[in-house]
Amino acid sequence: MTDLPRREFLAAAGLAAAAMTAARDARAGDPSFMNNVPDSILDGDELPTFKYELEKSEGKVIGGSHGKEATVEQLPISKGLAGVSMKLEPGAMRELHWHATAAEWAFIVGGRVRTTVIAPDGTAETNDFNPGDVWYFPRGHGHVLECLGDEPARFILIFDNGYFSEFGTFSISDWLGLVPRPLLAKNFGLPESAFDGFPKGEVYFARGAVPPEVSRPPLQGWKTPALTHRYELLKRPPHRTFQGGREWRVDSSTFPISTTVAGVVLDLEPGGLRELHWHPTADEWQYVIEGEVSVTMFGSRGRYRAETLSKGDVGYIPQGYGHSIENVGEGPCRVLIGFNSGIYAAIDLSQWIAGNPADILAKNFGKPAELFEKFPREDVFVAPAKED
Ligand code: MN
Ligand code: MN
Repeated sequence: MTDLPRREFLAAAGLAAAAMTAARDARAGDPSFMNNVPDSILDGDELPTFKYELEKSEGKVIGGSHGKEATVEQLPISKGLAGVSMKLEPGAMRELHWHATAAEWAFIVGGRVRTTVIAPDGTAETNDFNPGDVWYFPRGHGHVLECLGDEPARFILIFDNGYFSEFGTFSISDWLGLVPRPLLAKNFGLPESAFDGFPKGEVYFARGAVPPEVSRPPLQGWKTPALTHRYELLKRPPHRTFQGGREWRVDSSTFPISTTVAGVVLDLEPGGLRELHWHPTADEWQYVIEGEVSVTMFGSRGRYRAETLSKGDVGYIPQGYGHSIENVGEGPCRVLIGFNSGIYAAIDLSQWIAGNPADILAKNFGKPAELFEKFPREDVFVAPAKED
């Protein structure tokens, strides 16, 4: 440092300070820095694990209901997305709450759920959900989830922020329990006694009677929003069907309110392969609903990692990282995939190769051009299952 002129040293120090500010802003969630700031967890000589055994964790349990979460706390690589596996027992309700730093996207695995969500324009929507349905609540919009009917409800929540914890939500009972009663009375124009017996702390899962089959109107009457929060994903035909698998896809092109999350349900037959590909604009969060898959990840600089995910496990692929998903189990598999972008985008390896002339490929690999004439002429997407 002694032979570095003082002026250059100060300039270098200034740059370092600017980089630190950028890193701090990025950590605070500024999307303009996404993928530009060196990520310490992806900087090493080896790729970190991208697997977390979510269903084997304990989570938060109240009665017969639970919430189990995967955030950067449990799966450090998963900075862009977090997820929760939730079960609501009959009569249980995930109480009125909002998320200060994440939008919520959900997929119903089993049972039925009713949601009511409020928007800043004062509109509110109540929807009933069946298995295969999806919801999306924009960041900060207040909502409540109820189990419908006599069967427990099981669903997977996906959040567009890996630092978001389901156990740090803004719950109505937590808030009202903290506000002094004179202030509450003044706020609502009611006597203080109206708040006698209110909960002192966060309820999280409220428990009571099974809700009526037909929902009652809100206190204000129906004022429904222009865009619905519900999308019946599996009631539609698959987006793509191949020998070896099929895929349902939902993003803002068909579900306009879902501006920050896209989702996929991927079914693979035994031996079926979702081919090598990458997503230029989104991180990928995976949850295995059924079966067993081998997921591979390519991370540049000679780095490659494979993990086997079983039913109930979570996987994560950072934006731009190459990957594949292969059914290595005995039976069919189903994987739920969420992306932190409202527009689905992917580049598949077969598609990339088919987009180049044979002479370029020959030079790149040092092989005769004829070899590349045998390669697929179009996107393979799902490779057929092996035939023994
Ligand atoms: Mn929520
Ligand atoms: Mn993918």
